[in-house]
Amino acid sequence: MIRVTVWNEYLHEKNEPAVAAVYPRGIHNAIADFLNEDANIKAGTATLEEPEHGLTQEVLDNTDVLIWWGHMGHARVSDEIVERVYQRVLNGMGLICLHSAHFSKIFKRITGTRCSLRWRDIHENERIWTIDPTHPIAQGVPPYFELEQEEMYGERFDIPTPDELIFLGWFRGGELFRSGITYRRGFGKIFYFQPGHEMYGNFYNENVQKIIRNAVYWAKSTFTCEPYFNGDAVPPPNAFVNEIDLEPHKEYGKR
Ligand code: ZN
Repeated sequence: MIRVTVWNEYLHEKNEPAVAAVYPRGIHNAIADFLNEDANIKAGTATLEEPEHGLTQEVLDNTDVLIWWGHMGHARVSDEIVERVYQRVLNGMGLICLHSAHFSKIFKRITGTRCSLRWRDIHENERIWTIDPTHPIAQGVPPYFELEQEEMYGERFDIPTPDELIFLGWFRGGELFRSGITYRRGFGKIFYFQPGHEMYGNFYNENVQKIIRNAVYWAKSTFTCEPYFNGDAVPPPNAFVNEIDLEPHKEYGKR
């Protein structure tokens, strides 16, 4: 069982009727709902205005993969909670940052850069290209697919060179964007995925759902030991050698 927590600031849906019409129970529940259709996934939710943003140490300790959607509330996320999430990532929790989470404190902490980009919201269409079809996150995803409407995110995306580049987005205005990328930090795996503007229903899109579901499977740690950081000095290898187990040296064949 993969334990997922879907975190959403949950502000647009509560304050803007047009967004509430798209996601009546919030983006977090829309994502948790399709993930919970998978018998191997148990997805819960957490939001900004809950105590500790719903991300207590206990919640994080019982989360294999954290999904993050934020936009207007980035600055309201406490630095203490960001650090708590970051430490859990270093200890092996997977992290999936969606759309405007590119500007979240946690994604900036992960990347160490400004994470700025070009953007434009004119209801244009996006074509997403799968450029690494062998990657686990791309399994079952066609070579390309269309989103009828999405906010344009364009390069340059101010991030460190990703460990892997899985999807590229092309927009009608001509821009390109590194739409699906991965990083590893400590023992944790991180996936950033660009679609998911609050005005468009792209979290209902079959391919977007498939990618997020695949990313949950990919990001769950397969590391089953306790992470260690700075262990005791290891004795030199010859301290383990039992001399009587060694065969005496012989010469073999011609020189
Ligand atoms: Zn947006």
